[in-house]
Amino acid sequence: MNTSNIALLATDTHCPYCALQCGMTVDAAGGNVRVRPRWFPTNQGGLCQKGWTSTAVLTAPDRLTTPLLRTAGDGLRPAGWDDALDQVARRLAAVRDRHGPGSVGVLGGGGLTNEKVYLLGKLARVALRTPHVDYNGRFCMSSAAAATIRAFGVDRGLPFPLTDLAGADAVLLVGANVAETMPPFVQHLGRAIDAGGLVVVDPRRTATARHAGLHLRTQPGTDLALALGMLHIAVTDGHVAETYVRERTSGFDRAWRVAARWWPERTERVTGVAVADQRLAVRLLAQADNAYVLTARGTEQHANGTAMVSAWVNLALALGLPGVAGSGYGTITGQGNGQGGREHGQKADQLPGYRKIDDPDARRHVAAVWGVPEAELPSRGRSAYEILDAAGRPGGIRALLVFGTNPVVSAPDAARVTERLRALDLLVVADFVRSETAELADAVLPVTQWAEEDGTLTNLEGRVLLRRRTVDPPDGVRGDLDVISGIAVRLGQPPERFPTGVEEVFAELGRASAGGPADYSGMSHGRLRAGEGLYWPCPAPDHPGTPRLFLDGFPLPGGRARFAPVDHAAPAETTSERFPLWATTGRLLQHYQTGTQTRRVAELDEAAPEVYVEVHPDTAARAGLADGGRATVSSARGSTSARVRYEPTMRVDTVFLPFHFPDGQRANLVTNPALDPTSRIPELKVCAVRLDPHPLP
Ligand code: SF4
Repeated sequence: MNTSNIALLATDTHCPYCALQCGMTVDAAGGNVRVRPRWFPTNQGGLCQKGWTSTAVLTAPDRLTTPLLRTAGDGLRPAGWDDALDQVARRLAAVRDRHGPGSVGVLGGGGLTNEKVYLLGKLARVALRTPHVDYNGRFCMSSAAAATIRAFGVDRGLPFPLTDLAGADAVLLVGANVAETMPPFVQHLGRAIDAGGLVVVDPRRTATARHAGLHLRTQPGTDLALALGMLHIAVTDGHVAETYVRERTSGFDRAWRVAARWWPERTERVTGVAVADQRLAVRLLAQADNAYVLTARGTEQHANGTAMVSAWVNLALALGLPGVAGSGYGTITGQGNGQGGREHGQKADQLPGYRKIDDPDARRHVAAVWGVPEAELPSRGRSAYEILDAAGRPGGIRALLVFGTNPVVSAPDAARVTERLRALDLLVVADFVRSETAELADAVLPVTQWAEEDGTLTNLEGRVLLRRRTVDPPDGVRGDLDVISGIAVRLGQPPERFPTGVEEVFAELGRASAGGPADYSGMSHGRLRAGEGLYWPCPAPDHPGTPRLFLDGFPLPGGRARFAPVDHAAPAETTSERFPLWATTGRLLQHYQTGTQTRRVAELDEAAPEVYVEVHPDTAARAGLADGGRATVSSARGSTSARVRYEPTMRVDTVFLPFHFPDGQRANLVTNPALDPTSRIPELKVCAVRLDPHPLP
């Protein structure tokens, strides 16, 4: 790649994509920007295809280098930065003055740095005075966050270093396809794999399930029943860690009263997992010296996702795993800054430091750091899908700012979301290309990318690390901090309240987080630059950080973790004569999220160019579909067109679609926006569909 924007030489940094945040060195010598793997505890020197090719997006041919403004009848036209920011601020103020602050919404992303997340939340709550700020992590980890805060008092994805897994004899992996989504993760499971102790719960025989000693192939949407059944077996077969449960937990009896009704045969009937396999899975975990339960999107993205995660937490607690050296419970974060993205204020129910927005002490503290009256801080707002669903409606959201996310592709019931976005009075998108969402915008603001700026991210272990600037951005683009500050100042905020220096913003974030669960106040860019990151909480400049949580108790009354009495419920929609199959969605090795970045990398696009539907050959034959042909996949909400891929290991009642692809290939044209009542996560992992040859007759 020859570029004219190369300024610096070899720089040690981290991958722009997933939460593993693999170490890499970006070498810009001689005008060619190349990536070399770099040893970091999470990747141990490995990179996946996405990491190896990650510099290609810096010079994407359709990279935006000037703002775009929509003009009547003439589409998006180039504009100067001052014009663009003036117009954005003027129109935001007009909407706010006419319809009230609650008519403005802000959507952020889990790939934004902590500094951006922090300033974006402050823009929403201080400059726009709207409660409606949320982020795309609402679509992926919010159930895990809600369930673990309830159980442990704190949500830090892995409350232990990833490298601890190397000592595990048994690992229960629920709804996580790490071999495909973050391949270097698998090496941490080596001991469990060799011992036959890797147990994978997944409706599909994924790349990860192929490593497993035991694959529990559930019917989609029935994980909770399986967890209840396994808890039942743990009790009746005498595997409960009784001393641990008595001394370190509360609420076991209420959880058991539910699980007592889930005898193994009933569980087998509902989940499809044989009694012998349920029993073997429990025995593997209970008899291991070191065991872990890890959950991810497969069990979170359901209309009862919080309860589903709670059921796995209950099992882990009954076996005495969380907060014990060498064992544990964790959730596997997906997005690069999915963890930090939910800690510092761009989430509808939180303030910086992972504080609850309805906590009076938290409000007082953050208001003082921001220099605003506490009474002016908005309360809890709409969640991400609720913001999108309210777009353009009377009394709903009339103007929306979107930073670092692409809901036209990522949101469930995507055609409806697209329609809602079209109905807005004002849509502003900050991105590096004309994403599918940017195509609908009234203003598009071109921003820097990962290697063009310094910024901190918090990886799946709660380890805060510094991603370094390696190359100069192209002329014409601006950093998100500049853009956020530019809007805030034009809305009448003093410039010093919205600084643009990344170290200054991080220092303020630290002060705002002080005393909260995710306390960053002892960190600085200097400390992060000097080492391999710091785990939160880190409350003082000489504090070493906290790699392992809960060893001395849980931050809950009596130091006890809490069981939750949760029961199985069927998915929000069931199969029918019209829609007889379950559909589930997920990720591919080659692509990240909505593919805005990875679909622009030639090698990745070539390897995974289009959406496909993975289907059992018998199921395909019944629908008149040939391997390699095209199918129309339809649900009650819409249809998508996909290449047919025969997969003999698929359940005959289930099909799979990857969700990275745009336009008529969007898997989310069929998914169900039914929301979990607690976490407000949509049910992206299961809906009812039918298959037909494409085009429909
Ligand atoms: Fe590592 Fe994830 Fe980047 Fe792949 S995408 S190189 S697994 S951080």
